Amino acid sequence: MACPTDNTLQERFWKHVNKNGPIPVSCPELGPCWIWTGSANQSGYGQIGTSKGLQVVHRLHWTWRHGEIPPGKEVMHRCDTTRCVRLGHLFLGTHTDNMHDMMTKGRNNQPSGDAHYQRKLTRDDVETIRTLWSQGVPQTELAKRYSRKTNTISKIVNRKRWL
Ligand SMILES: [Zn+2]
Repeated sequence: MACPTDNTLQERFWKHVNKNGPIPVSCPELGPCWIWTGSANQSGYGQIGTSKGLQVVHRLHWTWRHGEIPPGKEVMHRCDTTRCVRLGHLFLGTHTDNMHDMMTKGRNNQPSGDAHYQRKLTRDDVETIRTLWSQGVPQTELAKRYSRKTNTISKIVNRKRWL
């Protein structure tokens, strides 16, 4: 009985992976996403129950190939698809936790003055929104942060409009 937990975990993992996912519009050369069809957490990342508790599946898959994630680093998606687990679509990045943390704190810590002032979104804002969304920040959170309707955020992240 060598590593029975890991074997069954990998079997369970692959049962929930659809390798015929969408091809990323921004970088079609990556090939189709491998979409996690199991459950997802609040941020939209796939998750699976393990002996160590719930784990985010794209990180788990990355560690099977590359080992532990270095401190301060984060496994990120080239394809902007939070549920994708294809290793070729993943890369190690930094600052994700910081940005995510900043967004989360922003919700409870908004300056009272111009927090709800409907200022024009800049191109930088739009890029930031897309980046944060690709890193798992929910659209509802982004809508609050930028005082926009979720529908507007949805159009931005789906590249139908940038303002
Ligand atoms: Zn992908």
